[in-house]
Amino acid sequence: MKQILLERPAANHIFIPKRVFMEPAALEYELGQRLREQFRAEGIPVTVTGSHNRVTGIPGTTPQEAFLESKRTLVVGVRRGKDFQTCKPSAHYQLPLVTSCPGKCEYCYLLTNLGKKPYIRLYVNIEEILDRAKEYIIEYLPRETIFEGAATSDPIPVEHYTGALKQAIEFFGGQEHARFRFVTKFSDVDSLLDAKHNGRTRFRFSLNTDYVIRQFEHGTPPMHERVAAAGKVAQAGYPLGFLVAPIVLYDGWQQGYQELFEELYRVLDLVSQQDLTFEFITHRFTQRAKTNILDIFPNCRLDMDEEKRQFKFGQFGYGKYVYPKDSMAEVKEFMQGMVDRYFPAAKVEYLV
Ligand code: SF4
Repeated sequence: MKQILLERPAANHIFIPKRVFMEPAALEYELGQRLREQFRAEGIPVTVTGSHNRVTGIPGTTPQEAFLESKRTLVVGVRRGKDFQTCKPSAHYQLPLVTSCPGKCEYCYLLTNLGKKPYIRLYVNIEEILDRAKEYIIEYLPRETIFEGAATSDPIPVEHYTGALKQAIEFFGGQEHARFRFVTKFSDVDSLLDAKHNGRTRFRFSLNTDYVIRQFEHGTPPMHERVAAAGKVAQAGYPLGFLVAPIVLYDGWQQGYQELFEELYRVLDLVSQQDLTFEFITHRFTQRAKTNILDIFPNCRLDMDEEKRQFKFGQFGYGKYVYPKDSMAEVKEFMQGMVDRYFPAAKVEYLV
């Protein structure tokens, strides 16, 4: 099992599901019909299922198998709920286009949020979802409403099937009183480069050192590919952001993160440095996350020794284990130093 988990996908990381489930209602939409035909033509089994919330038929007798098979399962549905989830503190609302992601990062927050079968789910009623976003925008005028497109997913891997992200980017491009943001670890961004974003979407990349990506972020592109994709996005004039997370304090972490900044500096041109944000999140875990991680990745090499951490109550009421004060201070100084040195015009949004 360990060997399967560490297997790297095709070099381009294009997601192709092993099986697809479709809600009958999804077939009432042009996109649903097109996807069914496309999957069938590609020889991918398509099963019509009752509800996108109760999917049965994903194989797997162990937690690891169920996890892996779910990550290769796509569910195509219709979003019915009228309201969007809030998304504090970084945005006002989540934009619900996709849930989950084919990546297999050992510390993924979705391991705790999506249960034992984190299959990928996308919605075909994109226009209705954007219409609802428009209602929120109007409701809160003259305030600017901010929407987050990656609160429960990485939206890029299924973009080549739906074009939903591009549609959302162009929708927000035409909204004077709204902004859009999302984050990805993937590099398949070409279809988004000519989107009419009008500077209203902040395109963020989640980055880490080569070591951390190799060790823990299975099924995702290497650092240099993400940075190259960021270079293209910068050229396309998007406001750009980097989420460096989770910062892991392994032996030699300073050198690893310095190499990351050097690569960013090498690839990004001066223009892009004018509207650039950084977010930094150090590695932390809850007791529940640790249990879930070890269930799926029994040989996980993440250091989750509670004795070496500081216990802190989070804003949502549960406790988490963070690095001790001294280490946090060291990380802060180091990362701020990197930004000052390589991207002095950039804004550090936060470091936690
Ligand atoms: S790429 Fe992001 S959403 Fe996907 S598994 Fe990794 S951390 Fe989770």
